[in-house]
Amino acid sequence: MKQRFGIISFVATLLLVPAPTASSHLNSVTLIGGTVQADHWPQSAQTVWNINPAHGANVAGARPVEDIIQASFDTWMSAPNTSLNVVRGTDSVATTFGMDGTNLICFVCHGDFDSEPETLAVTMTTVATQAGVPDGHGGSVQFAGQILDADIIFNSTQNFTTDGTGDGQDLQTVATHEIGHFFGLAHSAVVHAVMYPFAPARETRLSYDDMAAISLNYGKAAPDVSTGSIAGTVRLGGAAVFGAHVFADSNTSAEPLAAFNIRKSPIGALTLPDGSYVISGVPPDSYTVTAEPLDAPVLDSNLGGFAPAYGRSAVQTGFTTRWH
Ligand SMILES: [Zn+2]
Repeated sequence: MKQRFGIISFVATLLLVPAPTASSHLNSVTLIGGTVQADHWPQSAQTVWNINPAHGANVAGARPVEDIIQASFDTWMSAPNTSLNVVRGTDSVATTFGMDGTNLICFVCHGDFDSEPETLAVTMTTVATQAGVPDGHGGSVQFAGQILDADIIFNSTQNFTTDGTGDGQDLQTVATHEIGHFFGLAHSAVVHAVMYPFAPARETRLSYDDMAAISLNYGKAAPDVSTGSIAGTVRLGGAAVFGAHVFADSNTSAEPLAAFNIRKSPIGALTLPDGSYVISGVPPDSYTVTAEPLDAPVLDSNLGGFAPAYGRSAVQTGFTTRWH
């Protein structure tokens, strides 16, 4: 059985109303007042995360979990063209989570894994629906779609390993994926991406797809490497195709991001209701662009409800894979 990562999002107004969110162009998005907003933290304010390092015997290995989590954050923070304003705070003893002012990393919290016991971990984010209201951390919300609180809960009924010993799932692999959600990234349909919804045995390096995603809403004023974008429209018989997975794949052996320890992979995006797409964060190279239906292995249900954010019940899958 494939083991799945989880993502849950809540939308905060004056009341905390759980609401589905969706993913588009590699980022989680929330439908707020009829506008689709990309979920992310403000770069101008520092985000603090706190770990409760307590864990059960399901987490094995000599390497401390604090080191694993720090290394996983560092992987995202060192991505080229990316500026993340986040720091580790004091350790926590909390075993509950929510919109409580603490962005908690927890191994002993009770997450709702009962209906999906194969889920390895889940990241819950609370997103603001409007600017100007209290942000729960002593300041004011800067923009709709701002993440106010994020908690990462590891499933205490799954086995993890911190150092490769034993038969548990590699903890750093799972943590790196969940921290992508912490920053507002959605699942990716690119198989080799860290944000792919199904866990590989071990993969702790970001791919081109992950780097494109994280640099989209956390860009640097002076980029480390120049990137471009590929835009177009997917039509079938003249009609726009909604929710096609479009990806750019290099057709050369060039490794333009090797110096940044970023793995070469396709870079993906999903088409919007008018069939348009933009694949951003594309390093200089020669690419083939392919459009494929989200009909397996990744389904739109794996992408957190992309279709409902655009008022649709499902993405369009009744077509075959096309290249151009
Ligand atoms: Zn996930």
